[in-house]
Amino acid sequence: MFLCPSCRARSISLRAKVRSSIFRPIACPNCGALFVVSRLAMLLSLIVAEVLVFVVANQFERPSVGLMAVFIATLVGVGLIYSFGFAPLERISRAEPAPAMRRTTYLFLIALAAALALVPIYVLMRA
Ligand SMILES: [Zn+2]
Repeated sequence: MFLCPSCRARSISLRAKVRSSIFRPIACPNCGALFVVSRLAMLLSLIVAEVLVFVVANQFERPSVGLMAVFIATLVGVGLIYSFGFAPLERISRAEPAPAMRRTTYLFLIALAAALALVPIYVLMRA
């Protein structure tokens, strides 16, 4: 169980953290405060991961797809452990209303995934 930043009780379960989102925040069973895993910490770790992929891939003359896949999978694994085990919680005042999954929402998510994949794609194309 994780410490609630508001009441200091060990009341927040790993399951609650994994299932949480800005639309379904973690509610502390002890004091009722609402939290999400810190968005700033998520953003910073994403940037660190992208830079790491870039730096490590540049160490290889010809990075193979398999090698990149293993490396990226490792980074994703470390990122998940960090997010749910160590990243700070951010207190929020209320849950955001869930977005309507319209066509533009899907397009936005696809564009986001493509943007995140640009660094590894660049590295592989360069080879
Ligand atoms: Zn609490």
